[in-house]
Amino acid sequence: MKKIIITLTAAALLSGCSVKIPFINEKPEEKAEQNPQLVERNEQTKENYGSNQSNEELFALEAAHFNSIKEVNGVKEIVNADNVLALVNKEFALPGTYIPEDLVKPNVQFSFGEQDIEKSYLRKEAAVALEKMFAAAENSNIYLFAVSGYRSYNRQVAILNNEIERVGKDQAMQAVAIPGKSEHQTGLAMDISSESVQYLLTDNFGETKEGKWLKENAHHFGFILRYPKDKEGITGYQFEPWHFRYVGEKNAQIMYKNNWTLEEFFKEVRKI
Ligand SMILES: [Zn+2]
Repeated sequence: MKKIIITLTAAALLSGCSVKIPFINEKPEEKAEQNPQLVERNEQTKENYGSNQSNEELFALEAAHFNSIKEVNGVKEIVNADNVLALVNKEFALPGTYIPEDLVKPNVQFSFGEQDIEKSYLRKEAAVALEKMFAAAENSNIYLFAVSGYRSYNRQVAILNNEIERVGKDQAMQAVAIPGKSEHQTGLAMDISSESVQYLLTDNFGETKEGKWLKENAHHFGFILRYPKDKEGITGYQFEPWHFRYVGEKNAQIMYKNNWTLEEFFKEVRKI
């Protein structure tokens, strides 16, 4: 039992989602509409990639899809938080007041059943895409379960405070995302698991047929595996095979094809 607790604690510490293990240590946490217009940048392909990679597609992205930032008390706050490509990470935060206006409950299976709770919600566009993805998976006899979607700023504050009380500030700050810096506040991220790993958000999910199916197919529905293995230095988070972020189908295809994280995508695309 002790070993299990240690393992779970370690998992929580390394997790960018934090506090989302269903059924175990459950806290009261729970916690766009158009594709960005990308324009091929063929004329710059050669100079940037060299002639041997001339088939690589480079892209330009409208400025509205880049973070617009203002500094508030030393925090880089995202002004255009409704942007479906909002880059939320350890550098850029959503405002405490930001609540997506189009949250809906997707019609999919949840690990916690039919409860109507905050974490079952996603922004409309992401919810529709999630429904399509789960249905397509089911057609291949892959049964996915949504575990945790939208998480409000206030919920994140509560989670952090609970954790500080439980393990102290230093440890809590490592384990739990700082309010505003959780991607779940966008309403565009969903943690997904399967019965085969007891609906847990665990590294083992990446080894299941469900986790593998998601990794190889999520981009067809506009989702990316947000925290891939071996990209920890770029995303700032350990590998999370369960955390999928909606970015729109075209963008997801580009990121998948080029093996880019969202951070790398913004470094590679040209702002127009
Ligand atoms: Zn997550």
